[in-house]
Amino acid sequence: MAQLFVSDLHLEDTRPDITRAFFHLLDSLQGQFDTLYLLGDIFEVWLGDDTPSHCADQLADRLRAMADTGIRVFLLHGNRDFLVGSHYAARCGAQLVEEPVLLRVAGQNALLMHGDVLCTQDTDYQAFRNMVRDPTWQQAFLAKSLDERIAIGRHLRDKSQQSAKEKADYIMDVTQAEVVAVMAQYQVNLLIHGHTHRPATHSVQLNSGAGTRMVLGDWYQQGWYILADDHAAELKPFPFTAAI
Ligand code: MN
Repeated sequence: MAQLFVSDLHLEDTRPDITRAFFHLLDSLQGQFDTLYLLGDIFEVWLGDDTPSHCADQLADRLRAMADTGIRVFLLHGNRDFLVGSHYAARCGAQLVEEPVLLRVAGQNALLMHGDVLCTQDTDYQAFRNMVRDPTWQQAFLAKSLDERIAIGRHLRDKSQQSAKEKADYIMDVTQAEVVAVMAQYQVNLLIHGHTHRPATHSVQLNSGAGTRMVLGDWYQQGWYILADDHAAELKPFPFTAAI
């Protein structure tokens, strides 16, 4: 029983190299994992399952073929692809799961999340998140024409990129106290997330003892993944050059 974790691919049609690199990772680890968790921001942007996207078609075909061989595939939402719906998940042969996900990893109680909820000091973002995660907002948004959704999506992205530039570094990272609180709440020793694009393995001091926080990196310049078996979990980079 081995698990593969990947986050923040940020796939888009203008970056076929990322899709290629991810598929190469899946090829190179074939037979070494039986469960794949994609921890959000798999797509740079997602405006509804009806949006035409070549890379999304490719990913669905690839995941579906994998699922057909018995590998279980789970999708979590990120802050960019929170509108990925059950229709697309079904095309992938994947199960869409709500964060946080509790599971056993490397013989420990572990928690999976995208990671954006841990950035509690970014109050603007948390307010935005509350708005767009509201089912009523989502229904209204998805009822708009594709052109309207593209325009709104572009506007929101510009705004968020602008405000990210103005924010201090620590605001964009997780809040340490929130990490400790969440790990205590769910009684886990291991937390795996992405989102911050700061890949690392951190020690966390919990009241119950020593904990670990593993942060998956983004796939803009190179890949990152965690491969775990019953005993150990390891964060590894995956150079894009390996995919050429
Ligand atoms: Mn994110």
